[in-house]
Amino acid sequence: MADRKAELVMELDALNEQIRALEEALEVKPDYGMGVGDPAVTQWELDQALLERLKIHADGLRDAIARYESGKYGICERCGKPIHPDRLAVLPDTTLCIDCAQKGR
Ligand SMILES: [Zn+2]
Repeated sequence: MADRKAELVMELDALNEQIRALEEALEVKPDYGMGVGDPAVTQWELDQALLERLKIHADGLRDAIARYESGKYGICERCGKPIHPDRLAVLPDTTLCIDCAQKGR
């Protein structure tokens, strides 16, 4: 299980790199005077949305690492059963087992 944590930390590091690069790129806002539908503006907005998603993902990974450190990683938050490793491989920051996830929040 220790490898899994190293993977999470590596993923978070990579994500932080991406967030930093994107934040730098977004500091330069394209000129809206060009008009709506300008490709530079559209790209800027897409990057902004991407940045938000990356940040949410980074938060999830930080949570996962914290749960790891308290020995709760891979345990369903709702029912306390272990989360299937296949599910964790796809969704490393999930807090619910497949059964609870399917029942909804
Ligand atoms: Zn569960």
